Amino acid sequence: MDFELTEEQVLFRDSVRSFAERHLRDGALERAHADEYPWDIAELMAGAGLLGITSAEEDGGVGGTLMDAVIAIQEIARVCPRSADVIQAGNFGAIRVLAQYGSEEQKRRYLAPLLAGKSLISVAMTEPNAGSAVTELTTTATPDGDGFRIRGSKVFTTHGLHATVFLIYVRYGPGVGGIGSVLVERGADGFSFGKPVRFLSGEDWNPLYFDDVYDPAENVVIGPGGFKQQMAGFNVERIGNSSRSLALGRYAFEAAREHATTRRQFGRALSDFQGLQWKFAEMKLQLEAAQLLLYQAATQADRGFPSAEATAMAKLACNRAGFNAANEAMQIMGGAGFGEDSLVEYCFRRTRGWMIAGGTIEILLNRVAEGVFGTRFSQRPASVLREAV
Ligand SMILES: Cc1cc2nc3c(=O)[nH]c(=O)nc-3n(C[C@H](O)[C@H](O)[C@H](O)COP(=O)(O)OP(=O)(O)OC[C@H]3O[C@@H](n4cnc5c(N)ncnc54)[C@H](O)[C@@H]3O)c2cc1C
Repeated sequence: MDFELTEEQVLFRDSVRSFAERHLRDGALERAHADEYPWDIAELMAGAGLLGITSAEEDGGVGGTLMDAVIAIQEIARVCPRSADVIQAGNFGAIRVLAQYGSEEQKRRYLAPLLAGKSLISVAMTEPNAGSAVTELTTTATPDGDGFRIRGSKVFTTHGLHATVFLIYVRYGPGVGGIGSVLVERGADGFSFGKPVRFLSGEDWNPLYFDDVYDPAENVVIGPGGFKQQMAGFNVERIGNSSRSLALGRYAFEAAREHATTRRQFGRALSDFQGLQWKFAEMKLQLEAAQLLLYQAATQADRGFPSAEATAMAKLACNRAGFNAANEAMQIMGGAGFGEDSLVEYCFRRTRGWMIAGGTIEILLNRVAEGVFGTRFSQRPASVLREAV
């Protein structure tokens, strides 16, 4: 067992770090508060080989590992937290499902511009009545001629205001086996958007409405019976979420550490007070422990998909450690960490959201508990069925 990065990983980390310092240090605060998706950064990252890190080289990707992508997103986030969203969208999100399961035609048409940083894909899974219970989704894909008619609605879609194409979770038929996903382009007939709502994190989402949208059969990414593949792909999204939680927690931790050594009260540096020293010790402990779980999930996955259990543990630990660090950092910095002129305030808001997004803390605990007892616990009221995991 080796807890060190390999020589290659260290070189890669250093190159991403210097890219971030060179291009992203300036303007990090402004980017955090900008409404627009940072398209300029996306193109810059595409040019630097930071999009499609785990995608196959023959598809225009880099052919790297999930661990490489984790290193990249963390290095970017430690300099410019908002720019880490571009790494997420270009490596961990719906793009990974498309790269893994998409047809050659889908890759040519959709993956290529995504890897070039010229388009953006969102995943639309959650519905008004299907949140944690995602398998209760009711958006349907009904056969019609050479394609499907999509009917239904989605909520909370990240980047819904900016995405050029959407990976929509749909129902072809009843039950879990009836769930799959299709691509729908922005601008498709019958595809409309509701009024934007702003999350505490500053992210805007708007309801998506599919009113008999015609989608050609070529746009099916995962057909009936593919729900397991769908969720396996979604675990990659969770690793990106975990990485950003941890990285933003570290960002806040470093800001607070710097502040504590320079800010003086009662004639002493803040770092002289034991009550604050212990906060730092606790934060460091949690951040380091979460880092190991994250690396474990990523290295075990190699270029494939991480396991559900390792992902759940990594996300739980990173979400908690990240939010706790941001929250404590804000407390340690007093008023100086509470305003919009400090990225600590931004880290606090973003890390809070990730305890809900991508599978809530409670749903992840359920998943870990299933591993503990080796059974699947049905969450439904009438059911006492216990299937083997
Ligand atoms: C910042 C952000 C970004 C998001 N981005 C996207 C996106 O891009 N695409 C997308 O499709 N969705 C997205 N979501 C939606 C997200 O996936 C859902 O919010 C999440 O799955 C929870 O669903 P819900 O909000 O409907 O809460 P509910 O499912 O209604 O849950 C409410 C509360 O009950 C708890 N709960 C529910 N069931 C159980 C149970 N069985 N055991 C214990 N506790 C339980 C939950 O943990 C939660 O605390 C995003 C959400 C946020 C906050």
